[in-house]
Amino acid sequence: MPAAIVIGAGVFGASLADLLARKGWEVTLVDRFEPGHPRAESGGETRLIRCSHGPDDFYARSARRALALWRELGEGVLVESGVAWFVRRENGWEAESERVLRAAGIPVERLSPEDGARMFPSVAVDDLAFVLHEPEAGVLRAADGVRALVRRAREAGARFVTGEARPDGGRVRLADGGLLEADAVVWACGAWLGRLFPELVPMRVTFQQLVLFEAGREWDGPGWVDFDAAFYGHARVEGLGFKVGPDMDGAEVDPDTRPLEATAEGIATAREYLSRRFPALAEAPVASAPGCHYGLTPDGQFVFAPHPVENSNWLLGGGSGHGYKHGPALAEHVAAVLGGEAQPEPRFALGERLAKRSLRTAGATP
Ligand SMILES: Cc1cc2nc3c(=O)[nH]c(=O)nc-3n(C[C@H](O)[C@H](O)[C@H](O)COP(=O)(O)OP(=O)(O)OC[C@H]3O[C@@H](n4cnc5c(N)ncnc54)[C@H](O)[C@@H]3O)c2cc1C
Repeated sequence: MPAAIVIGAGVFGASLADLLARKGWEVTLVDRFEPGHPRAESGGETRLIRCSHGPDDFYARSARRALALWRELGEGVLVESGVAWFVRRENGWEAESERVLRAAGIPVERLSPEDGARMFPSVAVDDLAFVLHEPEAGVLRAADGVRALVRRAREAGARFVTGEARPDGGRVRLADGGLLEADAVVWACGAWLGRLFPELVPMRVTFQQLVLFEAGREWDGPGWVDFDAAFYGHARVEGLGFKVGPDMDGAEVDPDTRPLEATAEGIATAREYLSRRFPALAEAPVASAPGCHYGLTPDGQFVFAPHPVENSNWLLGGGSGHGYKHGPALAEHVAAVLGGEAQPEPRFALGERLAKRSLRTAGATP
């Protein structure tokens, strides 16, 4: 059986290690930290899983496939709460999403603002044209999901090595001096991919903040996105709270030293939005306020491509603030390429990337 080394146990690397191990590959998964740690982009509390990606049919189908795979993983990682889009324009990004979802047979419904409002105990909808509801979308428990993937990978025989790795020719040099080699080496290093291969992967790393507010059980409900305002979050999730996250790109940071907590200003920004959209929660106490980072490619597309010199080495990443949900579906593509059954998706290739419309929110760049 072929052997693979995967460096990086975020959602991309963990999903790949899990799938390859279950396919019978001999897998070594390397990370500087334990799976789910808060320094990784895949750590922390929750991520939304939604199929709406504007006119982009590719990511809609990928998210739909990933949904089935997260469901299969179980372990309470997927919270099937649905996702509600607060839509301000009749013919904007969400209307394009709706068209794509209907064409792909993915469940979606267009509700009047008043009908949409019934999903929450109280919500202001006076500025909305309609609410787009994805009933089968939801919320993923982020750190738990990564841990569950790594656990399943280990059960299937994968070996987990804690340590920092560097490329060394086509091989993998560990910080303790050890050298690893395999048929395929996949560098799935999140924001650090741009630091390990700066000439190949242009990546901006930005500081992102979010706040979880305390809320009672009556606030159990869907994930939500206010695309044009660049805010997103979810109704109460058991044990975590009601989430509000500004999606505007934050200041550039070093992923090794960025704060693990949101700032007072970040909390105030989230509360200001909360007070406008969900006025009944305006005074809700803060349950937690983590900091995180986005690893952004110029066009928001992921990266998956062979290293131009060391062809057994592959670069995988560029989650660009929307990658978590896709992890297990992306792993299927990567495994098929490594197994010689598919060609790499051209949109993930290295080379020049042009900034274009966001795959996240209208307020974000690109
Ligand atoms: C606030 C926030 C909200 C988000 N919301 C959503 C959302 O709602 N929906 C969604 O789908 N996505 C969302 N995302 C994006 C998503 O979380 C990321 O795209 C995804 O987690 C990226 O995963 P990754 O595996 O590429 O990177 P990471 O999770 O960062 O994993 C990379 C791993 O590589 C390890 N590593 C790096 N370099 C080395 C080295 N040299 N040696 C050993 N190990 C190394 C790191 O320690 C790390 O564990 C959000 C992100 C943030 C920050």
